Amino acid sequence: MSRNVLVLAEVRDGGLRNVSLECLAAARRVAEGGTITAAVFGSKAKEFADTLAHHGADKVVVATDEKLDQYTTDAYFQAFKQVIDKVHPDVILTGHTAIGRDVSPRIAARMGWGLISDCTDVQPADGRIIFTRPIYAGKAFVKKAVKEGTVFATIRPNNIPAGEADTSRSAQVEELDVAISADSLRTIVKEVVRKTAGGVDLTEARIIVSGGRGVKSAEGFKVLQELADVLGGAVGASRGACDAGYCDYSLQIGQTGKVVTPDLYIACGISGAIQHLAGMSNSKVIVAINKDPEANIFNVADYGIVGDLFEVVPMLTEEFKKVLA
Ligand code: FAD
Repeated sequence: MSRNVLVLAEVRDGGLRNVSLECLAAARRVAEGGTITAAVFGSKAKEFADTLAHHGADKVVVATDEKLDQYTTDAYFQAFKQVIDKVHPDVILTGHTAIGRDVSPRIAARMGWGLISDCTDVQPADGRIIFTRPIYAGKAFVKKAVKEGTVFATIRPNNIPAGEADTSRSAQVEELDVAISADSLRTIVKEVVRKTAGGVDLTEARIIVSGGRGVKSAEGFKVLQELADVLGGAVGASRGACDAGYCDYSLQIGQTGKVVTPDLYIACGISGAIQHLAGMSNSKVIVAINKDPEANIFNVADYGIVGDLFEVVPMLTEEFKKVLA
């Protein structure tokens, strides 16, 4: 059963977000011979057509209106809706990102379609598409399918591998004049001031070194940053650390923070409260460093180190420096 699939490709800091390539990988699984179209917005959108083709797009629809250079709800809603009206997809996939979480339900509600959000797996089965998503704050997974009509889903970063680029592929590129009137925009972005986790986006980071109240100070977080830098990862935090003022809330992982699924999560001085586990327990490998052998974090850890993080983390940093040099 072939399906036409539309993927919203996101551009950030001048590059395509990895989750958009992961959405294309998901699209390849479910298209089953149908056409995969990628939509990409902003004045530089055409630059990304080749990469999108290499990762599976058969067609790339670009909208180069400069009002799409920065995300605003109104501009993206109008542009994406126009692409959908043109492409008539059977399946629409976006990343489960700030943009995907804003624009997808807005369009789905307007069209009267359902939306399956935060999917960690997508597979075709018996003429349907089975979407897997976490429930109960990540404690269990549910499989869902849409009975009929257009299927809309957001894909959680770092769960469906993007796959290798096939540079022999090319796509038909079409420019869409989306005609966004300035009057229709209720917000104008004048400047973006980004609070980063050492330059690596937490939700897409493959390796996260995370600190809790046990880190004891903002100064203490520098020890974690050094390890993250050596590993090419990002620094995250528990709410305990954020509440204590050791780091910015943009680093908070958990039920009321970011949900992450890195390959490696190193939890330092974090007790493992249920609200923290909700944001990281699906990480592929969890290493916990805590001086309390009874700490709950050890119940979800693949590897546990009972010890003082200020001794253990610098040792790890030195050893990784030797291995990775
Ligand atoms: P603590 O529980 O104080 O743990 C500190 C740990 O550090 C201890 O286990 C201690 O043994 C260890 N330690 C101390 N010194 C060292 C050392 N030198 N070396 C090694 N280990 C050491 N929390 C989140 O994280 N994310 C959320 O999104 C979140 N949302 C919440 C939402 C709600 C509605 C509520 C009620 C709470 C939420 N919380 C959240 C808070 C959560 O319940 C915990 O209070 C919080 O996660 C505790 O942070 P912590 O583990 O850093 O601190």
